[in-house]
Amino acid sequence: MTKTETREFQTETQKLLDLMIHSLYSNRDIFLRELISNASDALDRRRFAAVKDPDLAPAGELAIRLELDKESRTLTIADNGVGMSRDDVIENLGTIARSGTRELIEALKREQNTDERPDLIGQFGVGFYSSFLVARRVVVVTRKAGETTATRWESHGTGEYTIGDGERSEAGTSVTLELAEPDEEGGLRDYANASIIESIVRTYSDFVAYPIQLVDGDAGGDAGGDGGGDAGGDSESGEPRVLNTMKAIWTRPESEVTDEEYNQFYKHVAHDMSDPLLRVATRMEGTFEASALLFVPAKAPWDLFHPQPSRRGVKLYVKRIFVMEDCDELLPPYLRFVRGVVDAEDLPLNVSRELLQENRQIAAIRKHITKKVLDALAGLKNDDRDKYESFWSELGAAMKEGLLFGTERNERVLDLLLAESTLEPGRLLSLDEYVERMVEGQEEIYYITAESAEAARRSPHLEAFRDRKVEVLVLQDRVDELWPQTGITYQGKALRAVGRGEIDPPGAPQKADQSGEEAAEDGATRELLLAIRSCLQDDVKDVRRSQRLTSSPACLVTDEGDLTPQMERIMRETGRDVPDTKRILEVNPTHPVLVELRRLFEADGGDARIAEFARLLHGQAILAEGGTVDDPVAFSKALADVMVRAAQGGSA
Ligand code: ADP
Repeated sequence: MTKTETREFQTETQKLLDLMIHSLYSNRDIFLRELISNASDALDRRRFAAVKDPDLAPAGELAIRLELDKESRTLTIADNGVGMSRDDVIENLGTIARSGTRELIEALKREQNTDERPDLIGQFGVGFYSSFLVARRVVVVTRKAGETTATRWESHGTGEYTIGDGERSEAGTSVTLELAEPDEEGGLRDYANASIIESIVRTYSDFVAYPIQLVDGDAGGDAGGDGGGDAGGDSESGEPRVLNTMKAIWTRPESEVTDEEYNQFYKHVAHDMSDPLLRVATRMEGTFEASALLFVPAKAPWDLFHPQPSRRGVKLYVKRIFVMEDCDELLPPYLRFVRGVVDAEDLPLNVSRELLQENRQIAAIRKHITKKVLDALAGLKNDDRDKYESFWSELGAAMKEGLLFGTERNERVLDLLLAESTLEPGRLLSLDEYVERMVEGQEEIYYITAESAEAARRSPHLEAFRDRKVEVLVLQDRVDELWPQTGITYQGKALRAVGRGEIDPPGAPQKADQSGEEAAEDGATRELLLAIRSCLQDDVKDVRRSQRLTSSPACLVTDEGDLTPQMERIMRETGRDVPDTKRILEVNPTHPVLVELRRLFEADGGDARIAEFARLLHGQAILAEGGTVDDPVAFSKALADVMVRAAQGGSA
């Protein structure tokens, strides 16, 4: 006997519950879809577990049972699925969306517009907690398949919950809701009414693959006790009625299924609250037969870049029978946001994850559905640009991983890529649009990597591009430091970073033959650059004349083949030990600072101010690209000294 204890929810849980109830009160019916989806997942898992270990198979048919008790105003959702151990209960029901909680709270705080909040909540999957939209008290009694003891969890949805031993004759879970009094104005319908429950099931959960039985009794239903046990049928007021058709939605002709039905199915498989952005239904015929019903979500899942996403990928069925959830083998990782089902005809029912990795049929399905998803996205890009742009801003960062080196590299993603233009702020361009707009003499696709388009526009690397009206694409994701460097080309054109190597944008003013005077000036500049270089030899790899700059005196660039500072940072974050890479200081010889420096240098090559100015020039090149100088105190002091001398009216 383990003692019953009262525990507090993880701190944020309470805040989240309040926010959720506040955001979803007009849409309370969804609690049932959420609880039925959880029950259906638990049944899937039990079936999967029983394939490996027949002892875990249930005695009766796998089913979901809804028990209504009008008198005590309780509704129980019971399943004979995989159930939960005590630790599972604490882990799953004591924290909302587990590691996602903090991210969700942050996202909710940022989203001032309350209409958008249900979408946000959907992304994080707070399914079970939606019970508190309709219940004053929730009691969960659960027993894990293969274990002999049951656990009872109870909460009023305020700051705490209690957990203790429970009674349950068979593995599975019962969630009993002590229903709040109806309040039509507050969106609270009478959920103790069988016909309301029935219509909600028909609307939201008709396609669930297990029978959803309604037991509309007036007796039993003690909110704390054994909430149903096996989902057989022994109601006192007659036989349980099955409410859903259970027809697998992907087997029905597309013309016969409404968008609304598809959307409900999506919400069920993806545990998302919002409608999907795109649907891809496809059938494979020939050597291997399979059908797939896939969806692209409207919003990026919160854990898209999480090292351990609480995956909700594609589910694998074999001949309409559920086999495996989160089947990664079915899609490349860059499409990990796609949700839905694949139903294969010729796989064994007891297929294991290990077996899938080598399976030819799975490889063929993967190839087929990857192509179909990319086709559908390409179609969306042509047909509905606004919608496509919203897809790209949500999920483009993951898509671009498909351009990295490796077996999964898929250059079709280049056709789908969008990036902001430096010439037309706010406008997203695809690569074919970019190429079409290239200026005469332009051979390469220019891009700049930056945290934001704003930051990119301020970069000194763009000066000559801007002056010569040459467009540059702004790439803003981490992965953009990597894939353009893999030698990838688009329509035969290389991608070229404007902050790397020597670059002279097309359209440069033609150089006339140099006069004697200009040649002498040129020689002096060369000497000066050598002098600056020797002052900065510990900090930079080289000092050279720039073709990029037109208004700034200096900037830093990365040498061809070297790591950019951002790449260095990424590599360090992934635990690799990389040496500091020195960069190249490029100077603009026509800038007044350089003109004056040349004058000083010509008058006295040993003038101590040259070294001082060289360091300032280097420091301000770092600051101009948003970096930090090594010794800010020394830098500020040097700058202050120069100001004092300039203010005193001397020649600095
Ligand atoms: P989500 O379903 O989005 O993960 P929930 O809050 O709805 O979030 O559920 C949290 C977890 O609790 C589920 O992932 C599952 O592991 C567990 N769970 C919920 N309902 C059941 C159930 N009926 N049977 C077994 N486990 C369940």
